[in-house]
Amino acid sequence: MDNKNTKIIRMCASCKKVIDQNGVWQVQDHPDKSYSRIQISHSICPDCVIELYPDIDLNEENETI
Ligand SMILES: [Zn+2]
Repeated sequence: MDNKNTKIIRMCASCKKVIDQNGVWQVQDHPDKSYSRIQISHSICPDCVIELYPDIDLNEENETI
C-alpha cells in the first residue's frame, strides 16, 4: 500500500472551499492530479463559522468542528 501518495484535504462543508498548505481557504475546482488518492476531511471555514455559528468564540481553538 502506498499511503504517502494520499492527499488529505480539508473542505468546507458549507461553501466547498479547501484549505491550502498556507492555511488559506480558497475555491479549488480541480483536484490535485499529482496524488493518486485524495481524502476529504469536511470542516467549516472561518467565514462560514461566523455565518452559521455567530455565537462561537473564534479565539478558542476547536478542531472538532
Ligand atoms: Zn465555508
